[in-house]
Formats: sequence, C-alpha cells, structure tokens
Amino acid sequence: MRIKEPCPEYREALMAFIATGEVSDSLIHINNCDKCRGFLEEVFQVTFTSLESFAETIREMKEKCVRCGKATPYWKSDHIDSRLYYVDGGSQLCKSCYDEIYEGIIDE
Ligand SMILES: [Zn+2]
Ligand SMILES: [Zn+2]
Repeated sequence: MRIKEPCPEYREALMAFIATGEVSDSLIHINNCDKCRGFLEEVFQVTFTSLESFAETIREMKEKCVRCGKATPYWKSDHIDSRLYYVDGGSQLCKSCYDEIYEGIIDE
C-alpha cells in the first residue's frame, strides 16, 4: 500500500504539526487540501474535521511533561525505554525541565 504524500511545500509544516500539535498560520492550507488532510488521516487513522480538533487529538496522544504540562516529543504508546528524560516511577519530563532539575548532575 502506498502512503499518501502531502504537498511537498507543506511537508515541513505538517511534520512540525505532528510533532507538537501546535496550530500555526501555515497550516490553514490543510483545511482546503485533500492531499494534506489525507496524509494526516492516514498517519493518525483519525478523520479530519477541523484543524483545531485534529490538533487536540494530537496533543491528547502526546505524553505531557509532569512538571510544566507541555507536550513532549513522545507518544503515550512509546515504550519508556525508547524515551529520553523519562524518570523512573512513571514521570515524563520535557528536555528543559529535565535539564533544570538535573543540570550538572548528569554526566553524558
Ligand atoms: Zn496540501
Ligand atoms: Zn517540562
């Protein structure tokens, strides 16, 4: 099966949208583009109704930082062994919170 491709010039904006769930001006295009909508629907297996509700869906699927509440790059379905900034005991942190808490302690 061939994966649908979004419009090439919007690919970067779509990837940023997928990664963060944040709606930006460059995404308004998606509302009127079958190709870009089809790509998102295929990636998420969710029907596109509006940009805002789709963004909401993405954010709900993301693991949130337990400290600041921002979405992290990780999906709730990601195994904890494949994540960074995950603290034993079930807490996902974002990079900046992790750095703040552990700054100077972690030796890479
Ligand atoms: Zn498009
Ligand atoms: Zn955080």
